[in-house]
Amino acid sequence: MRKTGLFGGTFDPIHYGHLLAAEAAREAAKLEEVWFIPTFAPPHKANPGADAETRRRMLEIALEETPGFRVEDLELRRQGVSYTIDTVNALLERYPDRSFYWIVGSDMVKDLPNWRDSERLAELVTFIGLDRPDDPFGEAELPMYVRRKLLRASMPPMGLSSTDIRRRVKDGRSIRFMTPDPVCDWIRRNGLYGS
Ligand code: ATP
Repeated sequence: MRKTGLFGGTFDPIHYGHLLAAEAAREAAKLEEVWFIPTFAPPHKANPGADAETRRRMLEIALEETPGFRVEDLELRRQGVSYTIDTVNALLERYPDRSFYWIVGSDMVKDLPNWRDSERLAELVTFIGLDRPDDPFGEAELPMYVRRKLLRASMPPMGLSSTDIRRRVKDGRSIRFMTPDPVCDWIRRNGLYGS
């Protein structure tokens, strides 16, 4: 089986916290590839700052020169609310030769039991959880069916968030070294986030 990481998010915009998390997951589980899956409409979040096409474009720009990392845009093509269980079922059907690892930051790890069909999802994938600074996850809080399928990966703590980047752009502050240069340029050239 080809071990493949799936990393879902709004990526509004992608930043180095995401890239480092994906790399830490890749290393920890010896993944062959990591596919970044921009959500069309996440079940848990209201309208993101940039539209779906813009978020996908920024991901593509960021991943252009990162072997083993790529964008998988099936949730954008499917539209509607993006449920992970639907995404995983579709990918398993399309790629029977792959085993899937679902990558999540600690804020999302805590929420896993609330995801649609989470018990079934835990049968289909292994979760890889990464701690975000100031927001670690405690395994004791999680139900056994999640704990059994959860691998913890570590990364140098990165206190970066897309919310902070959007706010900085709006305030005319620098976001250099928070996301790859071509993404910074693209945000500025397209006047995104009120830049
Ligand atoms: P926002 O600030 O808009 O909520 P975000 O920075 O949390 O965005 P998302 O696109 O919502 O980014 O996150 C996608 C996934 O990446 C989630 O599982 C999230 O936990 C994880 N993640 C985001 N930032 C980090 C980080 N700095 N370190 C580790 N994981 C992260």
